[in-house]
Amino acid sequence: MDETILQEIALARADVLARIAAAAKGAGRDAGSVQLVAVSKVQPEERIEAMLAAGQRIYGENRVQEAMTRWQPRREAGLDLELRLIGPLQSNKAKDAVALFDVIETLDREKLAAAMADASAKSGRAPRIYVQVNTGEEEQKAGVAAMEADAFIASARRDYGFAIEGLMCIPPADEPAGPHFALLAKIAARNGIAKLSMGMSADYETAVMFGATSVRVGSALFGARD
Ligand SMILES: *Cc1c(COP(=O)(O)O)cnc(C)c1O
Repeated sequence: MDETILQEIALARADVLARIAAAAKGAGRDAGSVQLVAVSKVQPEERIEAMLAAGQRIYGENRVQEAMTRWQPRREAGLDLELRLIGPLQSNKAKDAVALFDVIETLDREKLAAAMADASAKSGRAPRIYVQVNTGEEEQKAGVAAMEADAFIASARRDYGFAIEGLMCIPPADEPAGPHFALLAKIAARNGIAKLSMGMSADYETAVMFGATSVRVGSALFGARD
C-alpha cells in the first residue's frame, strides 16, 4: 500500500483521537467514554485499508447496499468490525440492515420499527438501536421530532421490545450545534438512555463537551469525499 496514504490516515486518526481526549478531559470526562466512529461512505478502498491498518474498528455507513459491498467480504474474512448504520433506512431494506449492522442509529418511525422487529425475529439477529431525533425540526431531514421523541421511545420499547441504547442527531448545518446537542442529551436523560451519537468533523469536540458517547467523523479522518 502507498506509504503516504498510510501515514496521512494514521496521523489524521491520531489527531482526532487526541482532540476527543482533550475535549473529554476539559469536560471532566474519561477519554475512554467516547467512541470514534469512522464514517467510511464513498471513501476509496486504499483509504479504508489504511484506516484498518491504523487500528480503527468502528465504521459508520449511510447506505445499506454500499455498506454490504464494502464490509461483507471483510466480515466474512474474519475481520473484527463494528458496523453502524447512520443514514436513513427504508423499511424494505430493514432485513439487509439487520443482517449486516451491529448498531442501527436511525430508527425514527413506527413502520420501520415494525420492519426491524420482524427482521430480527426471523434472523435471530438484534442490532443495538438508537432513535434519531430531528432536533432542528428540518423538513428534509430524517428523525422523530423532538416533541414526539418521548412517545416514540416509549412505543419502541413497549410495542416492539427494543432496548433503546442511544439517541442520535444531526444539527442543522447553518446553526450552532451546541443547543441541539444539549437538547438531545436532555431527551436521553429523561428517558433513561445512556448513549448519545452526536458530532461530525466540524463539531465533534463540541459534541464531546455536551456528552457525546460516540462521534461520527468522516472527512477529518479520511479526507474530503469526492
Ligand atoms: C457523512 C456523515 C457524517 C460524517 O460527516 P463529516 O462531516 O465528513 O465528518 C456523520 N454523520 C452522518 C449521519 C453522515 O451522514
